[in-house]
Amino acid sequence: MIDALDLTQALLRADSVTPAHGAVFDIAETALTAQGFRVDRFVTGDMPDGPVENMIAVRGDTGPHLAFAGHLDVVPPGPGWTGSPWSGEIRSGLLYGRGAVDMKGSVAAFIAAAARAPAAGTLSLLLTGDEEGPAIHGTRAIMDRMAERSIRPDLCLVGEPTSAQRLGDTIKIGRRGSVNIWIDVPGRQGHVAYPHLADNPIRPLVAALAELNGLVLDRGNDWFQASNLEVTDLHVGNAATNVIPAHAAARLSIRFNDEQRGDDLVARVRAIVERHAPAATVTGRVSGEAFLTPPGALSTLVGNAITARTGLIPELSTTGGTSDARFLSRLCPVVEFGLVNATMHQVDEAVAVDDLHALTDIYDGVITRAFAAG
Ligand SMILES: [Zn+2]
Repeated sequence: MIDALDLTQALLRADSVTPAHGAVFDIAETALTAQGFRVDRFVTGDMPDGPVENMIAVRGDTGPHLAFAGHLDVVPPGPGWTGSPWSGEIRSGLLYGRGAVDMKGSVAAFIAAAARAPAAGTLSLLLTGDEEGPAIHGTRAIMDRMAERSIRPDLCLVGEPTSAQRLGDTIKIGRRGSVNIWIDVPGRQGHVAYPHLADNPIRPLVAALAELNGLVLDRGNDWFQASNLEVTDLHVGNAATNVIPAHAAARLSIRFNDEQRGDDLVARVRAIVERHAPAATVTGRVSGEAFLTPPGALSTLVGNAITARTGLIPELSTTGGTSDARFLSRLCPVVEFGLVNATMHQVDEAVAVDDLHALTDIYDGVITRAFAAG
């Protein structure tokens, strides 16, 4: 048997700021091989701070295949912690450490739940060391490797910390997409007293932004709020009071629902900007498309496991930032459920010890139900 608390403490004591590799994977591997998992560890790329390691662990080859996806890397702790961010110490029922809720605690809970699981199906753990960073060498590399080896889950649970106030109050069944757009409008520099000899780029930029601010992208739908465009930066950098500047720039961020696609939004913004400023350059970068696993068998199964342990009926949500579930949703139905996210990425990140044990029971319930459903 594996205790979720002991395993979380061991994982927390291994510093694993993105890109994660080495010790933190050694700890997971030891716990998984002891339970009969076949562990495949591989390095997929180098980042400035070191290599990215990933792991695919599989047990069984028949029956329904449930995959659990997570990450062993963490964001930097930053200054101001009460104790060491790598101590894994318990004070007043709370276990402290960077990654306690996001998401070493849920990885440990799933491994502990797997130790109790029946042999009636197939379990896999997909663990990356590059989720909090650029996520270039992480989950997408794992999916390439799964394709090469014909590893195909039927259902996927991502262990991100989705609970808001109490463990079990929220499941995520989708996420909004995200695109950032940079606008640069060239003009012609000149003296403010001789505007006919210059071309002020601020006029067309402000007119374009006014139109963009008034844009209604959509009205949302049953599962998503309306898509939203925010102007996040305006930059001219003109130090002189008597100079018309040569350039004006702005940046936008759009969080969008499943009625939109990132590239279409960039094209739409470009068309509006170019109408006001034909010489403008508009550059977009899509960091993730929206996805939705429509409420159904998987969300019901996870919800039932939560209700059985906590008495709560979880809300099905699509709020928050992007997650690696956006990649995994191409493989099979995917939902996200994990610990209370109140302290994630914060100083003194902590998980309630009781929640770790309750999450282990819930994951146990998910595995049992997934195997029975096959
Ligand atoms: Zn996370």
